[in-house]
Amino acid sequence: MAVRMKAIANSLLKKAQGMLGYPVGCLYYPSFIQFDITTKCNLDCVGCPRDNIKETSVINTDLSVETFRKAISIFPFVNSVWLHSYGEPLMHNDFFEFVRLAKSAGVKTYFYSNGMLWNREKAKKIVKLGADKVVFSVDATEKKMLERIRRGANFERIIGTIKTLQETKEEMSSSLPEIELCMTLRKENLSELPKMPAFAKKLGIRTVFCQNILTYTKDGEESSLYKADKESALSVFDEAMENAKKEGISMRLPGLELKRGKKCEFPSSMMHVRVDGKVSACPYCAYPFKLQYCISGGKLVNMETDFAEHIVGDLNKDSLETIWKGKKFTALRKTFRGNCLEKPHSQCIVPYGIH
Ligand code: SF4
Ligand code: SF4
Repeated sequence: MAVRMKAIANSLLKKAQGMLGYPVGCLYYPSFIQFDITTKCNLDCVGCPRDNIKETSVINTDLSVETFRKAISIFPFVNSVWLHSYGEPLMHNDFFEFVRLAKSAGVKTYFYSNGMLWNREKAKKIVKLGADKVVFSVDATEKKMLERIRRGANFERIIGTIKTLQETKEEMSSSLPEIELCMTLRKENLSELPKMPAFAKKLGIRTVFCQNILTYTKDGEESSLYKADKESALSVFDEAMENAKKEGISMRLPGLELKRGKKCEFPSSMMHVRVDGKVSACPYCAYPFKLQYCISGGKLVNMETDFAEHIVGDLNKDSLETIWKGKKFTALRKTFRGNCLEKPHSQCIVPYGIH
């Protein structure tokens, strides 16, 4: 209870500081922290962001539990931690220890999974540890399409994982973890979108989160809905939303046109910790990569861009609190407040609501 009170007090402090004009010297803590606990994965999905770090020294490595422990002192003040970023979290041999440590510190603990590495015993462990949310990445409602996009996956196995987790929750009389689906949209699977609400409902799931593929690769560029006929894409979106309403599913869809005037809130609300302990404001500026679409002159431009990393600290050397309130993070927030964004943030499509 004391832990939740600290997190609530932190949210109020953040609101108050926001009302006074966005933070330069930061009085509050981040709302959430995302940990890239591993860059290993058992799949090879088309358009995976890992493709961009395949040539670097951080690929196929793990965040150490020792480094993670250095972050724990900040957990009572934040709302949630996310235990995934550029890999499949269950590939980490100490995955359950991360969940245990986070839950012992009283923070809400969430993670994404591709659903391939689970069994009944792991489902029991997750329920017992009290993880708060698992989001399964499921890009289609039928086998052929899903396995074409998520190379190496097995449709029946993923469905089996979700059913086993639902059964385990019931057996252990637990409402947690909450289960959600995430669908990455592209031209190939757009026709699957209207079927997703009924599919989710059948699995006992109430929330579906959809995002546009981030065009890290040429594959992604060809698949992107930015290149699709907008009118037909929007009519599919409408049909999907109607179905979601009918089935009682909460569904979030990305935009297809730039929404202007919205500032990126990540530097004033989150931190991202890489596998090697390096800290950035979000997962997009955590590693250097190539992007096929970027913002230039306020427009969405189809142009290969070097999207540079922007590292603001190192958890191996400083605490997350020191980094969050330190000079580099403060300077970054200042550029967002003053609209004097530099690369990579000035090129980033994420704040425009189309991801
Ligand atoms: S499951 Fe995620 S990390 Fe793994 S290959 Fe697919 S998109 Fe990449
Ligand atoms: S502008 Fe983009 S890269 Fe920069 S903090 Fe926001 S989401 Fe991350």
